[in-house]
Amino acid sequence: MSQAAWNAYRERADKMAAALAGSDGRVRLRKPTSNLFRPRKQSANSQIDAASLNHVIEIDADARVAEVEGMTTYADLVEATLPHGLAPAVVPELKSITIGGATTGIGIESSAFRYGLVHNTVEELDVLIADGRVLTCSREQRPELFYGFPNSYGSLGYAARVRLGLIPVSPYVRLEHIRFAEPEALFAAMDAECARPTCDYLEAVYFAPGEFVLSRAQLIETLPAATEPSDYTWMRQYWKSLRQRREDYLTIHDYLWRWDTDWFWCSKNVGAQLAPVRLLLGRKRLSSVTYQKIMRASHRWPLRLLQFLRPRTESVIQDVDIPIANAADFLADFEAKIGIRPVWICPFVVPEGGFSLFSLRTDTPYINFGFWDMVRSDKPDGYYNALVEELVAGHGGKKSLYSRNTYDESAFWQHYDREAYQALKRECDPEGRFPGLYEKTVQGR
Ligand SMILES: Cc1cc2nc3c(=O)[nH]c(=O)nc-3n(C[C@H](O)[C@H](O)[C@H](O)COP(=O)(O)OP(=O)(O)OC[C@H]3O[C@@H](n4cnc5c(N)ncnc54)[C@H](O)[C@@H]3O)c2cc1C
Repeated sequence: MSQAAWNAYRERADKMAAALAGSDGRVRLRKPTSNLFRPRKQSANSQIDAASLNHVIEIDADARVAEVEGMTTYADLVEATLPHGLAPAVVPELKSITIGGATTGIGIESSAFRYGLVHNTVEELDVLIADGRVLTCSREQRPELFYGFPNSYGSLGYAARVRLGLIPVSPYVRLEHIRFAEPEALFAAMDAECARPTCDYLEAVYFAPGEFVLSRAQLIETLPAATEPSDYTWMRQYWKSLRQRREDYLTIHDYLWRWDTDWFWCSKNVGAQLAPVRLLLGRKRLSSVTYQKIMRASHRWPLRLLQFLRPRTESVIQDVDIPIANAADFLADFEAKIGIRPVWICPFVVPEGGFSLFSLRTDTPYINFGFWDMVRSDKPDGYYNALVEELVAGHGGKKSLYSRNTYDESAFWQHYDREAYQALKRECDPEGRFPGLYEKTVQGR
């Protein structure tokens, strides 16, 4: 254990706590990147600079845990753990996602069929609350805060430190891409894997009616003779390989970041799927961080004007969770009424209940459907995002709140435990210095 690293963490956390205690009125978090996808109102809030809380404090290889500051990106944490032959149990696939952001924002990835969601892999948190105190919580210590933090979106306080579980990994991954024509057969295969895992990572992509590709990934120590790992970090695109190959090999590093180079397939929205653009951007700039910057700039004046040159569209960028038994029906409805393709399909188990702001059934696996695109629309703005909410509710599911939400307040609190939330809000932020959950995630304040 490096005492120096812990002392440095405490110094940084104390500095942030002092800034919080020393300011008054409404507060917002200032951090270098964000994966939020909803319009945010300019507010008179003072901003707390959290960027400095981005260090890995300690990797305990024997206990297989990492102690990290809340604003540390998964990219930096993975760089620190791989030399130990370890990786976080669940690694959200966009490099700029931070450990605190994924813990509060509901994180998922292809190992979730074994370990659940990101917050299921968290063991302890230091939460900086509105009056500048830092509260340590875990399943044993202040459990109501620990179980109330996921899906709170910084409205109760900020994760200054996170202790999370690590798993052993091998240097390489062998991938099998299996075609399915029927969704029922695909979800049955995923259900069986959730019950008795026979691989290390599992996900699928829906390309079109009758065209699903299930990817099973196995950790391997060495590559077969005369085999080189594939490289999708520049001219070639990982998502296209799913339709072209039945087997593939990647380094574990490139497997964990396979979706970041093309933001799944969303790089097409900024023309980065075109070879000349890829050649120009090069490996370093072909990443979700670059595309986010371009997307945010395109919403600013005068680029905003370009929008009037093309047909009216509505941005539908969502991740929704549906009990596996309802997954095929949900997808059929989604295809008929919204029709975005491709769709990312990621199964996950629910190893424990009790997360008051994101309570899920524990007797069934779920399917996370991720879809991110513009829908041509002659409907009132928000129509398609509201339709997503209706479909999710209609199939007994839950929607993560990182993007656009159209619920009215009473409908919102039917999905999230208002009483538990208000009790925590009274304890952590009685003066309402942080915007409330509904205010923040629906009203964009
Ligand atoms: C296209 C797209 C695809 C996505 N796919 C996935 C996916 O497959 N897997 C997945 O896991 N996630 C996915 N996400 C969602 C993403 O994980 C969440 O939005 C997550 O919250 C982002 O974390 P961040 O660190 O970027 O935080 P931000 O986007 O900066 O913040 C998210 C929210 O959390 C709050 N917050 C940030 N840090 C902290 C902290 N330390 N303490 C308390 N509150 C904090 C912020 O105030 C904000 O309200 C996707 C998002 C997008 C846009």
